[in-house]
Amino acid sequence: MDFNDIVEHIFASRWISGTRMEDAIKSSKHFNALGIRTIINYLGEEITKQEMVDATVDTYVRLIRYIKNYGINADISVKPTQLGLSISEQEAMSNYSKLVKDARLSSVFVWLDMEGEPTVDSTIKMYLSEVQQGGVGICLQAYLKRTESDLQRIAKSGGVVRLVKGAYSSSKSKSFTTWEEVTRNYAKLMQLAYEQCTEFTIATHDTEMIRKSIELNKKYKRKVTYAMLKGIRNRLAASLAKDNKMSLYVPFGEQWISYSYRRLKEAGHLKLLLKSLFERQGV
Ligand SMILES: Cc1cc2nc3c(=O)[nH]c(=O)nc-3n(C[C@H](O)[C@H](O)[C@H](O)COP(=O)(O)OP(=O)(O)OC[C@H]3O[C@@H](n4cnc5c(N)ncnc54)[C@H](O)[C@@H]3O)c2cc1C
Repeated sequence: MDFNDIVEHIFASRWISGTRMEDAIKSSKHFNALGIRTIINYLGEEITKQEMVDATVDTYVRLIRYIKNYGINADISVKPTQLGLSISEQEAMSNYSKLVKDARLSSVFVWLDMEGEPTVDSTIKMYLSEVQQGGVGICLQAYLKRTESDLQRIAKSGGVVRLVKGAYSSSKSKSFTTWEEVTRNYAKLMQLAYEQCTEFTIATHDTEMIRKSIELNKKYKRKVTYAMLKGIRNRLAASLAKDNKMSLYVPFGEQWISYSYRRLKEAGHLKLLLKSLFERQGV
């Protein structure tokens, strides 16, 4: 085992299911047995080579077949820059449309991940081009000031939102920059989602936000799903799954470095990180 293998083993294996599609299917079966749906993501981002974009689209098409053939309870989640957004908006739009049409034939739900702030306009445009036919959802990030109006726009279109705090950063003029501000905005957007959307996903490990959401649902009675990332709070996810719809985001693939780096940054300080890595999670 060289240094890279050790780092991969310690960090990435906690957060990703493995390098092969079969690993994601195996993880999904495991979580499905606990009443948890999965959201499978093929790792990769900011792709600028056409042949790599084409290969990524093919991988997702194969993944859709696998999910259907194995009867797995899973959605897929794709990053716009995996579909060619770093090449052109048109390239990403056309690949998204192809993928979504294919997924609809297999009844597989397709999420659009949200990436850095400069990609938000194009991502929403991609989403709105397919929202009417259904079977699609979009991630929105509480750290961005624009998200309140984006959420209202998507609610009006009848779209399905996955609300997250956001794993990227932007300027002070465009974003909330402290944890407190982002969390306050998350709570505000959650309230808005309850008022304006019938179906949405609360994607957070923040137990206070989850508690607030469960409270709000007593009043609004919406179709709410809770979602977490694999390997952060699996035990809490399993316990929430007893009374709620629950999903776990399960990535697979060779490109695990950027994804794991974002998780490392979120861990904040060593204590949290070690807790997440070594806590016996039970699932
Ligand atoms: C299903 C799902 C899909 C996502 N999709 C996107 C997306 O498309 N675009 C995007 O920008 N972001 C996405 N994210 C990431 C999200 O934006 C946050 O970066 C991430 O969820 C951490 O924020 P939090 O809401 O859990 O709250 P935080 O306040 O960051 O965390 C709450 C608590 O959770 C625990 N925790 C959180 N992260 C870690 C960690 N890495 N290690 C150990 N403990 C941790 C800690 O105890 C922390 O106190 C997604 C998250 C989920 C759950």
